[in-house]
Amino acid sequence: MATHEFVAIIIGTGQAGPSLAQRMTGEGMNVAIIERKLFGGTCVNVGCIPTKALVASARAAHMARRGPEFGVAVPGDVSVDMAQVKARKDAIVAQSNTGVTNWLKGMEGCTVFEGHGRLESATTVRVNGDLLEAPKIVLNVGGRALVPDMPGIKDVEFLTNSGIMEVDFLPDHLVIIGGSYIGLEFAQMYRRFGARVRKRRSRTPTRPRSSRAPGAARATPTAERPGRGRRLRDPSAAPPGPS
Ligand SMILES: Cc1cc2nc3c(=O)[nH]c(=O)nc-3n(C[C@H](O)[C@H](O)[C@H](O)COP(=O)(O)OP(=O)(O)OC[C@H]3O[C@@H](n4cnc5c(N)ncnc54)[C@H](O)[C@@H]3O)c2cc1C
Repeated sequence: MATHEFVAIIIGTGQAGPSLAQRMTGEGMNVAIIERKLFGGTCVNVGCIPTKALVASARAAHMARRGPEFGVAVPGDVSVDMAQVKARKDAIVAQSNTGVTNWLKGMEGCTVFEGHGRLESATTVRVNGDLLEAPKIVLNVGGRALVPDMPGIKDVEFLTNSGIMEVDFLPDHLVIIGGSYIGLEFAQMYRRFGARVRKRRSRTPTRPRSSRAPGAARATPTAERPGRGRRLRDPSAAPPGPS
């Protein structure tokens, strides 16, 4: 097992990690940065950037449907090619992910380790077969999608904010659980893509607002009990199907 010494070890390449590495190496420090999965973390790969790319596609569909209001003729029905929507989103994400990866790998004074960092002591981190030592260890380990322990959740297929990024088809009926901005974003975009959307929010949150999970979504053609949840209405989307 190899041991490496650094001035600082940063675990995670999300929002703060790469900039901190840049600042420290710029001041002549020898820094290690560890990433277990996707360079750039949540925002770049399964958060802000992909959702905003999807929101933009949804808005394009919305505005195409509203074209006549603005004096723009759109012949025929507006349809959405979800495979193309996902491909566009993937290309945007890849650009950012590659940018962060190359930035870190090319950073003088910064050594990149790919693997799960585990603290062995207050000054030691293990990554795969390497032991890294430094007087300073910075945690930028971010968030994870949390699946709440709801009755029945183990019996249905569901998506988190990460899993929904792989969807390249239009769900007939999407049930979104969670009332934060993330759930609202997915609700609006899928309604605009043409899915039926139902959004549910617990009245008794079990976790503080700031640490609640991003909305879990269920994409199934399941019949819902009438009168439960909230049907989102976007008249311009007007997809066919039962209410
Ligand atoms: C769907 C969605 C949409 C969002 N939209 C927006 C938005 O529009 N605007 C906005 O401001 N915010 C948005 N956010 C929030 C934003 O993405 C997060 O606040 C931000 O990404 C958190 O950054 P972070 O650096 O703390 O953590 P993260 O970006 O999660 O980075 C942590 C990194 O650490 C790595 N890691 C974790 N543990 C280890 C380990 N033991 N060893 C090695 N690596 C490890 C992870 O793989 C990850 O790459 C959104 C979030 C979601 C889920």
